[in-house]
Amino acid sequence: MNILEDSACRIYTLHLACPVKKDLIKIPTRSNWCTHPEVFDLETFLNDMQYYLQWRCPICKKLVKYQDLIEAKDLKKYLDEGKTTLVFHKPRIVKELFDSNNEEITCEKEVIVID
Ligand SMILES: [Zn+2]
Repeated sequence: MNILEDSACRIYTLHLACPVKKDLIKIPTRSNWCTHPEVFDLETFLNDMQYYLQWRCPICKKLVKYQDLIEAKDLKKYLDEGKTTLVFHKPRIVKELFDSNNEEITCEKEVIVID
């Protein structure tokens, strides 16, 4: 058994850089409909979307409205501390985490911060 492989699949690394501009995120944001741990920068998003009638999450491409946008306060805390790379460990209760068609990693537990 390969130990490296095993730990790699339980760990998710999140870089707090905007997927659109690659800058550091100032206000980490997701929509209500997003199920992914990644966030985008609110200001960059609003700037980019100002000419569009329909807004889509830059990460999962789901349709979002202004009132759907939520600040990821949990991540903001780390940004305020100057952390730009967060490593999440998958919670150990695998059964509750994954349903048959959802293999995404949730990031609510066992957060380890490096940087
Ligand atoms: Zn999304």
